[in-house]
Amino acid sequence: MPHVVILGGGTAGTMVANTLARRVARRRGTWRITVVDQDDRHLYQPGLLFLPFGAGGEQDLVRSRRRLLRPGVDLVVAGVEAIEPAASRVRLDDGRVLGYDQLVVATGTAPRPEQTPGLQEGGRRGTVHGFYTLEDALALREALASWAGGRMVVHVAEMPVKCPVAPLELTFLADAFLADRGLRARTELTYITPLEGAFTRPVAAAHLGSMLAARGIDVVPDFVVDRVDPDAGLLVSMDEREVPFDLLVTVPVNMGSDAVARSGLGDELQHVPVDPGTLQHAEHENLFAIGDAAAIPASKAGSAAHFQAEVLVPHLLDQAAGRPLTHLYDGHASCFVESGHGRGLLIDFGYDVEPLPGRYPVPGLGPLGLLAETRANHWGKLAFRSVYWNLLLPGRRLPVPTRVTTAGRRAPAAGTPTTTHAAA
Ligand SMILES: Cc1cc2nc3c(=O)[nH]c(=O)nc-3n(C[C@H](O)[C@H](O)[C@H](O)COP(=O)(O)OP(=O)(O)OC[C@H]3O[C@@H](n4cnc5c(N)ncnc54)[C@H](O)[C@@H]3O)c2cc1C
Repeated sequence: MPHVVILGGGTAGTMVANTLARRVARRRGTWRITVVDQDDRHLYQPGLLFLPFGAGGEQDLVRSRRRLLRPGVDLVVAGVEAIEPAASRVRLDDGRVLGYDQLVVATGTAPRPEQTPGLQEGGRRGTVHGFYTLEDALALREALASWAGGRMVVHVAEMPVKCPVAPLELTFLADAFLADRGLRARTELTYITPLEGAFTRPVAAAHLGSMLAARGIDVVPDFVVDRVDPDAGLLVSMDEREVPFDLLVTVPVNMGSDAVARSGLGDELQHVPVDPGTLQHAEHENLFAIGDAAAIPASKAGSAAHFQAEVLVPHLLDQAAGRPLTHLYDGHASCFVESGHGRGLLIDFGYDVEPLPGRYPVPGLGPLGLLAETRANHWGKLAFRSVYWNLLLPGRRLPVPTRVTTAGRRAPAAGTPTTTHAAA
């Protein structure tokens, strides 16, 4: 009986486990599926974006991992100590050893503030905040509740980070939040990024950049952070540029699990290099990585993990049956970008397809607008939570194509203003 061990019971691990369990449900007792996670608290991370602005309660964001897994999937609550791929086994931090036939590494990526000198000290003083963990998002909520104006800086330390649009969304929401409270005129809002522009791809970067400019938000590009000076309230780059702040909201360096590094399977950020199409490890053919844990040139997003799971599950079945792996992941990701005051954008892209204007999921029809601010996109973003708990995690099929398409999409003509407001 094939034993599939999935390390990490977050978005990707849960989807793979449940989708596989569905696919083999009729062959009861022929597959063994084990998920390992260090705790039994599954956090809906996209909800962290709204918490600092007082929207939504934290109780809506956390559920038991065990209850999210289908019958027939075992959950082992323990930390992964190390993977021993040559022996096809995993050592856990409680001393247990798990053998496997196929291994899926889905241990994600997490903020590592200790990688930037001065960041944690600034956090202790209450001038540096984040929103990538529940604790950080709640602490930022406190800070914003007593904000009276000054220099607010939103900052991304290094790419890749999970949900690369989340810091932009936080900036747009901060702009709207401050405007609603009569504090915007008293707040200098700055967005600092290591990228050349607001996003990785040119058309979306120009579009999002023009949205920041229209809101009077300064953008400081190409900023590779060296340190934070918490005494002076300064963010300092490698080339000694200084940006002063009264409140810094940072997305620290994101790194994969230490267990990946201990296993000798990681790159410099502890993500696992795998084939971008098959998600298979080059040396260990029964080892796959998915979601944020994978070092592939795709966006680190729940939507990307979903499209990856649709490829990876057939791989597990094919490999166990001795068939070749024929499904390829094309880098597909779809991300809602909340832009404040009940509007949002949607971007949809892949390795070779950049985010362009159009309609989604049905080309030419929608109902959602791509790279355009609409109310429908905002409602789509809010509805995503229910989709996540009730469709995505249980491994049900979504009415969206697995592969990214260019059908009905158009690149704006050179010189065309990129800020569009499509009808909802
Ligand atoms: C603020 C914010 C907003 C976001 N918004 C969106 C959005 O709108 N749309 C979108 O698509 N995505 C969004 N994302 C990104 C999305 O949440 C992640 O890309 C997604 O959760 C990745 O899934 P994953 O399974 O790879 O990692 P995770 O869901 O993070 O799961 C990793 C799991 O591995 C476990 N683990 C790690 N190390 C070990 C170990 N050593 N032993 C045992 N267990 C371990 C962890 O406990 C965790 O449960 C957002 C993220 C953030 C932070």
